Amino acid sequence: MAVSKRKFKAEVNKILDLMIHSLYSHKEIFLRELISNASDAIDKARYEALTDAALTEGDGEWKIQLIPDKDAGTLTVRDNGIGMSRDEVVEALGTIAHSGTKEFLKLLESRAVKNNPELIGQFGVGFYASFMVADEVSVLTRRAGAGPNEAVLWKSGADGTYTVEEAEKAAKGTDVVLRLKDDAKSYLEEWELRKVVKQYSDFIEYPVMMDVTRTKTDPDDKDKKVTETAAETLNSRKAIWLKDKAEITEAEYNEFYKHVSHDFTDPAKVLHYKAEGTTEFSVLLYLPKQRPFDIFYKDYKVGPTLYVRRVQIMDHCEDLIPPYLRFVKGVVESADLPLNVSREMLQNNRMVAVIKKNITKKVLDTLAEMKQDDAEAYATFYAQFGRILKEGIHHDFERKEAIADLLLFESTRTEPGKKITLAEYVARMRDGQEEIYYITGTDRAAAVSSPYLEAFKEKDYEVLIMTDEFDDIIISRLGRYAEKSFQSAIKGDLDLGAGDKEEKQKEYGGLLELMQDQLKDLVEAVRISGRLKDSAVCLVTGEHDMDPQMEKMLAAMGQDVPQGKRSLEVNPDHELIGRMKELFAADPESETLKEYVGLLYDQALMLEGDHPRDPVAFAKAVSKLMAEGVAAG
Ligand code: ADP
Repeated sequence: MAVSKRKFKAEVNKILDLMIHSLYSHKEIFLRELISNASDAIDKARYEALTDAALTEGDGEWKIQLIPDKDAGTLTVRDNGIGMSRDEVVEALGTIAHSGTKEFLKLLESRAVKNNPELIGQFGVGFYASFMVADEVSVLTRRAGAGPNEAVLWKSGADGTYTVEEAEKAAKGTDVVLRLKDDAKSYLEEWELRKVVKQYSDFIEYPVMMDVTRTKTDPDDKDKKVTETAAETLNSRKAIWLKDKAEITEAEYNEFYKHVSHDFTDPAKVLHYKAEGTTEFSVLLYLPKQRPFDIFYKDYKVGPTLYVRRVQIMDHCEDLIPPYLRFVKGVVESADLPLNVSREMLQNNRMVAVIKKNITKKVLDTLAEMKQDDAEAYATFYAQFGRILKEGIHHDFERKEAIADLLLFESTRTEPGKKITLAEYVARMRDGQEEIYYITGTDRAAAVSSPYLEAFKEKDYEVLIMTDEFDDIIISRLGRYAEKSFQSAIKGDLDLGAGDKEEKQKEYGGLLELMQDQLKDLVEAVRISGRLKDSAVCLVTGEHDMDPQMEKMLAAMGQDVPQGKRSLEVNPDHELIGRMKELFAADPESETLKEYVGLLYDQALMLEGDHPRDPVAFAKAVSKLMAEGVAAG
């Protein structure tokens, strides 16, 4: 029989190394991982057998067995689930099937993982936890439906290599055999196994069984002892989501959360309820505390696990939850869906739509409550998930008002890091203020000191600071809030009530025309500003043009962005502009004037965070002016 020896992928070696040397204090989680894998394998077999009964091979009595063997020093975790083919074994137990491998490796080396080894579970590497307690692991497995001599034996001593060979196995499913290290021999003891199963795997749906030998006094002869061996079920197997709330402890809720989410911290919130009426379903959902590292990846799995009458149909049903709530984890069980429901059927199923609507509302209501009752907890939640929740404004037109109520923003009046709701903003708008003002930018410091806010500061108008690239799109999608429209501080022609803007426009008409003429290839218009107080000039995007931050982001991603021409705004109260007007009146052809116009345009670019068109020429011109200034004394 051909034995083939192979090398683990580099990332697997790193994990093994970490498992063996750093995660020492949490050794017992290996059993949770193996039982969890066994349970998944049975779920799959049970589901596939719905359409192909032959796959049960006459053994539909689903169970997981723990077989400690003190003589051999091994612990076997056996399941009669789906099993694996040779290709599947090599794929599943030789690589890390995750697109975020690079991030993963970085994380592996971080302190976070060393202190919280459960984090490992997030990446689907649970099986490798076996090497914390075993110096050799063998996996004997046969795919359900394959012949008895089509089994595979995988073996590794965590030395960077593993072997696979053909094998025989009468029953379908998988045996994972651990040759226990000396300091892990306690996992051969009944009490230890009982304890670990109870703690981590109590709610597993299938029985976790073990043969238990008891010595008893012979009922017929008091002086004689007899030994009996019987199979016992170690877990209570109660589907926690079907239980009564009063029966469940917080610790049980938390343990189940870790099971469904692979998260290592307790959840921020539990939603557990039963809907009764035309459609009946049970829901146990969790809001996590921390954003999963892969939530922005394409292959991030969205949606709760779907059960129909205790059978797991799908581990992630994305039709049950809108993408902007994809951080929600948990289980939904329906009694009304058919057992053999397919993915395609789910997409158009009325019942599924009803459940999704119900869940969406419940989650949004819960968030609203949380914001109301515990602003601090909500702010913590928002810092992790606000960016994702916000997508709902764009995608869920029907609920955009409800979602808008949940948004938080920093503002020119909040301390850095503190955020307010739109409702709070509106409630403290100044007399005479008609619109909700906001500024977009990459960071707060730059936004706050930007010239665009000068007039707002003077009028003491609060301005929301928006630092996510797509905030501008979200706001234009939202349109209005509490009957107030939104106005960007960096877009469009603003008039913050200087009063004499039109007059000034006339007064400075000649100079503005000259500037416009000189800059005609660069700007749409040159006009008197209604937003500047201290700075001489700034560049402003058209009301309906793309946000400059968004523009930059798309350009950085290599997209072709049509560059809208901006307007140059001029502050008539600035000393320099006054002097330029005088100079213009004295000599409209003045070379100095022309030079100044160019420099002002470059300055406006710099105020936006850009470079002057020609930095060398700019520096030369400024130095020349400075020299003249010094000479003039
Ligand atoms: P995860 O279970 O998070 O995917 P693991 O490293 O624990 O990560 O397992 C990797 C893969 O190996 C599983 O996704 C599954 O395909 C396969 N596997 C592990 N244990 C079993 C088992 N008992 N039966 C069938 N397949 C299994």
